[in-house]
Amino acid sequence: MNPQWPGEGRRSWAEPFRIKVVEPVKMTTREEREAFIREAGYNTFLLRSEDVYIDLLTDSGTSAMSDYQWAGLMLGDEAYAGSKNFYHLEAAIRDHYGYRHVIPTHQGRGAEHLISKILIKPGDFVPGNMYFTTTRLHQELAGGTFVDVIIDEAHDPSSVHPFKGNVDLGKLEALVRKVGAHGIPYVSLAATVNMAGGQPISLTNLREVRAFCDQHGLRIILDATRAVENAYFIQQREPGETGRPVKDILRELCSYTDGCTVSGKKDALVNIGGWLAVNDDQVAEETRNLVVVYEGLQTYGGMAGRDMEAMARGIVESVQDDHIRARVGQVEYLGKKIEDAGVPIVKPIGGHAVYLDAKAFLPHIP
Ligand SMILES: *Cc1c(COP(=O)(O)O)cnc(C)c1O
Repeated sequence: MNPQWPGEGRRSWAEPFRIKVVEPVKMTTREEREAFIREAGYNTFLLRSEDVYIDLLTDSGTSAMSDYQWAGLMLGDEAYAGSKNFYHLEAAIRDHYGYRHVIPTHQGRGAEHLISKILIKPGDFVPGNMYFTTTRLHQELAGGTFVDVIIDEAHDPSSVHPFKGNVDLGKLEALVRKVGAHGIPYVSLAATVNMAGGQPISLTNLREVRAFCDQHGLRIILDATRAVENAYFIQQREPGETGRPVKDILRELCSYTDGCTVSGKKDALVNIGGWLAVNDDQVAEETRNLVVVYEGLQTYGGMAGRDMEAMARGIVESVQDDHIRARVGQVEYLGKKIEDAGVPIVKPIGGHAVYLDAKAFLPHIP
């Protein structure tokens, strides 16, 4: 474990920011909270936000933006076509993720919809290192069948494998042998893997997957929503990567893939937004033709100019080592507290969340 991290008994550490705006929240009593959760049928998605004092539902879209991002909101160019904020966003994505073509979308699922519709035909198989809910659904709506090719350790909550997001090449090879490469539009990789508990894939594994896909003429599409967190784990855990800037690792990670879908609501530090990026000219052209049908013109894709500006600036800030160390560090800090209290959790602690091992924690609930 990183010695810089708050050890036993340490309350906190020096955060790389200063808070200058606060949002007052309603104080509630235990009795009130019990009534709210009963009324919501014990379904946290049905609670009203104002009744929740500490909201641990998800990090999605909940980031506080920096002063630089807020300043960017005032620079929104809301022209219908060719907003200058789009070009800032395109430059930020090219610089940090490395893909040639950038198509903005309203959220990550908008990008998943477009790429699934363009690349998948009915009867196809889409192998993945587990899946994200919306990603898989869009693949299935396009007629594809998801096939899990993640390593077995990912399914074991107690395994402390450092890269539980890795692909089992044996499983991938078995699928190619069974259905043929022509039945596989792309390998769908996530970094990190949310469903496995926010677990990363290693650069070594990704290089192997790339070599395998090159042999068989297969594309790789990355869900890069949390790729900055993944790059940070590589810096911390992968032999030979210690001390390398997260920004560099992120570029290398993306370089092994042919395109990505991203929800801007996580790593990119905005409250709404997303994008699709690809290298292939033909796929980019088809995407531009479809984005205008489902999201908006190819230079806004469902986002306001100001929101594209905030996301462009968020991307630049998200890859700073001090930022991502603190971001993942607060999760580790929370996870350790929960573990110390005797609650079973999925290990290792994830990049963006602490997953309770519900089966072990509440064995009486079927
Ligand atoms: C949130 C998320 C998505 C979906 O993005 P939305 O912006 O919520 O549509 C896809 N993949 C991963 C890994 C995510 O965390």
